[in-house]
Amino acid sequence: MEAENILPQVSPNHRAGFISIVGKPNVGKSTLMNVLVGEKLSIITSKAQTTRHRIMGILNGVHEGTDFQLVYSDTPGIIKPQYKLHESMMDFVQGSLEDADIVLFVVDIFEKHDEEDVLQRLARTEGAVILVLNKTDLATPEQIEEKIAFWKEKLFTAAIIPISALKEEGIDKLFGAIMEYLPVHPPYFPKDELTDKPERFFAAEIIREKVFLNYKKEVPYSTEILIEEFKEKKDIIVIRAVILVERQSQKGIIIGDKGSMLKKIGMAAREEMEQFFGKKVFLEQYVKVEPDWRNKIQKLKQFGYENS
Ligand code: GDP
Ligand code: MG
Repeated sequence: MEAENILPQVSPNHRAGFISIVGKPNVGKSTLMNVLVGEKLSIITSKAQTTRHRIMGILNGVHEGTDFQLVYSDTPGIIKPQYKLHESMMDFVQGSLEDADIVLFVVDIFEKHDEEDVLQRLARTEGAVILVLNKTDLATPEQIEEKIAFWKEKLFTAAIIPISALKEEGIDKLFGAIMEYLPVHPPYFPKDELTDKPERFFAAEIIREKVFLNYKKEVPYSTEILIEEFKEKKDIIVIRAVILVERQSQKGIIIGDKGSMLKKIGMAAREEMEQFFGKKVFLEQYVKVEPDWRNKIQKLKQFGYENS
């Protein structure tokens, strides 16, 4: 692993952030998301939820001379929980609100105003809330004005942008508003040749989680996961992961008696990856002692090129 070689130049002005698209069912969240990420989308089709977000689309680009990376997540529609399942779905929405740098709160022109639950949730986000008034193609200018006035009174927002996701109207304006509130931050995901393979990130995360679940205190913190190979074939994904540790004794602990521990975490990780990627996974893991990995990896992390 020549870590330094995969470190590209990142401008100190780079902007990046997590953007959550929330709102009631059917207001046009998914349509909007597709319009926003467009063709450049590198999508993760998996339904699995990650520690931070259910990440659906990552968009890299340049806006007025500034490189950016937008990490969009679509969420389930906000509903009043009636079942346990709903509750956990809403917990997820809540989580994505809490973590978001920017929240796109999508409403449509017809939305009935039973939104107290939504407003309560929005009140707790620290991200900038941009209210997106969708389906303007179905309304008169007066109706649109009326709605804007209504929301202005109801909710504190960074901006209110009327759009038609379907007709792709108002999208430039919305994009401009997003850029305005996007923090200066290094990219969260690789932008170079790895751009179309954010799956690597999740593969490493899944193994890391198993390490945390199965080993005692200092070992997980001395461990780093690198995905050396991620090859998607027709029926199977072949993944080769290196588990870096700092000392020989830690290598022994990771591997366990006759390899039992490594086998255990490997099986658990593979099962979860198969669920996550929706495909069979061949996972090869090996453990390597790399006394100096912290220095090398730390450098990458600063630039967001390693998952942390
Ligand atoms: P979600 O449930 O919030 O993700 O909503 P969807 O994106 O699935 O859209 C729900 C329905 O609204 C679909 O039939 C879309 O085609 C329609 N829709 C979305 N945006 C617009 C729009 O701007 N104008 C009109 N007329 N229909 C839209
Ligand atoms: Mg949807």
